[in-house]
Amino acid sequence: MAEVYIALGSNMAGPHDQLDRALKSLASIPEIQIVAVSDRYQTPAIGPSQPDYINAAAQLQTSMSPESLLDTLQSIEQHQDRVRTVRWGPRTLDLDILLYNSLVQDTQRLTIPHPRMAERAFVLLPLADINGELRLPCGKTVSQLLANCSVQGIVKSTSGNN
Ligand code: ATP
Ligand code: MG
Ligand code: MG
Repeated sequence: MAEVYIALGSNMAGPHDQLDRALKSLASIPEIQIVAVSDRYQTPAIGPSQPDYINAAAQLQTSMSPESLLDTLQSIEQHQDRVRTVRWGPRTLDLDILLYNSLVQDTQRLTIPHPRMAERAFVLLPLADINGELRLPCGKTVSQLLANCSVQGIVKSTSGNN
């Protein structure tokens, strides 16, 4: 069994609903157990001008390989009508693998840890809800990385207010 952390994000077509649906799909997969889910955060978008994101993180246990897990996450994205157009453009759902045990891998299709996670407050804040003491393969904890990030503009969000 691998301990995995993923990031969830959406800024189209009812972001909170999109995250709810994604978590339901993940929970229905026999090879995946959801261990913990973070709070949700409303985050100004990076990339081209677009609506704010709702972001969250989840801790999973899975018997899947990293590549099979990515296949699964991408099929959930597709199932929720994700269309890939502009890089970092608006999307109904983004599911990224952040950490997979202490694996470090860099292949064309899959880089773990997620290459931009250490500088993204919208990833680190929800991860810190689950476990701030979680240590990345680089040796730093989530809380340590978060202390070097700007959390400006990021607020907690419940489904009631977005
Ligand atoms: P970012 O990676 O900056 O968060 P993004 O999530 O919008 O951008 P996507 O369009 O979702 O990028 O994915 C582009 C490609 O990234 C995917 O096709 C996938 O092969 C690759 N990828 C590499 N590493 C990862 C990872 N750790 N998790 C998810 N996808 C990854
Ligand atoms: Mg992403
Ligand atoms: Mg992605």
